[in-house]
Amino acid sequence: MARKPRIVIALGGNALGKTLPEQMIAAKTTSKAIADLVEEGYQVVISHGNGPQVGMINNAMAALSRENPNQPNTPLSVCVAMSQAYIGYDLQNALREELRNRKIMDPKVVTMVTQIEVDADDPAFDHPTKPIGHFMTEEQARHAEQAYGYVMMEDAGRGWRRAVASPMPKRIVEMNAIRALVEAEQIVIACGGGGIPVTMKGNHLTGASAVIDKDHCSALLAKELEAEFLIILTAVDQVAINYGRPDVRWLSRLTCQQAREYIAQGHFAPGSMLPKVEAAVSFAESGSGRTALITRLERAREGILGLTGTRICR
Ligand code: ADP
Ligand code: MG
Repeated sequence: MARKPRIVIALGGNALGKTLPEQMIAAKTTSKAIADLVEEGYQVVISHGNGPQVGMINNAMAALSRENPNQPNTPLSVCVAMSQAYIGYDLQNALREELRNRKIMDPKVVTMVTQIEVDADDPAFDHPTKPIGHFMTEEQARHAEQAYGYVMMEDAGRGWRRAVASPMPKRIVEMNAIRALVEAEQIVIACGGGGIPVTMKGNHLTGASAVIDKDHCSALLAKELEAEFLIILTAVDQVAINYGRPDVRWLSRLTCQQAREYIAQGHFAPGSMLPKVEAAVSFAESGSGRTALITRLERAREGILGLTGTRICR
C-alpha cells in the first residue's frame, strides 16, 4: 500500500501561549488544526517553538541557584530538554483527546526527546540573535545585563528580551528512532524548541548554550522524512512584501527564486518571518514534489486545500 503523504507541521508561539494555563487552552485549539490534517488523510509529524517557555524555565532555575548555593545553574540545553517534555506532554494529551472526540479511538501520539547536532565553530555562538523569555523595559534589561551577564536585545518594537545564540541545525541525533515511529504510523512530536543543541566529540555529546530556530530545524526534519509538505503555522494568513506599509502585498504563491529575491530586498523581519521563508525555500528546493506552506494556525485545513496561505514551490 502506498504511504500517506507526509506533513511536517511547525507550530509557532501562538500555538502554545505564554503561561502554563494559557498553554493548556492553546493546545486544544492547536490540536483541532492538527486533527483537521489527520482527517484530510495526511501523516503528520509535529515540531514546535519554545521561546517564552525556555525563558521561563531558565529564569526559574536561575532563581533556584541564587537561593541555594548547592544548586549550580541549569544549562540552557537542559532547559530546552525540559521545555520539550512539558510542551510535548500538553500537546500529546490534547491531540489524543481531540482525535478520540473525532472517533479515532486509538490515537498513537508520542513525544520524542530530540537532540540536534550543531557546529561548535558556528559563528552564531559569538552573536546572540534569538530572543527568549518575557518582555522587559529597557531599565529592567540593563539590570539583567549587569546582574546576570545576559545579552539583551530589543525585539521588533515590542520590548526587551534576553538574546541567546541560535546556530544552524546540522543533524538530528534521534532521526532513526523518529523515522521508525513515523513508519509505524505514530503521530510524532519531535525537535521541540528547535531541538536540544549538542556538539559532538568522539562518542560524547555536550549540551550547547543556545536555542535553535524551530523553523530551520523543522525544514531539516521534513527533508529527512522525505515529507511532501512543510507547513509553518503562525499568526498571519500569508507572507507579505512591504509588510506593515500601505502598499503591502499578500502572496499566495512564491517560487524559491522569487522568495530569494524578496529576502535580499529585506522584506522579511529577521527572527520572525525571515527564518520561515528561508526554511520554506530550503525544504522546497531540496527535492521535486516538495511544497512549503506558511499560514495561520486556525486555517491549516484551508491552507492544505489551497484556499489560503503562501505556498513556496521549486
Ligand atoms: P512564530 O511564533 O509563529 O514563529 P513569529 O512572531 O516569530 O511567529 O513570526 C510571525 C510574525 O512575523 C507575524 O505575526 C508578523 O507579525 C511578522 N512578519 C514580519 N515580516 C512579515 C512579512 N513580510 N509578512 C508577514 N508577516 C511578517
Ligand atoms: Mg518565531
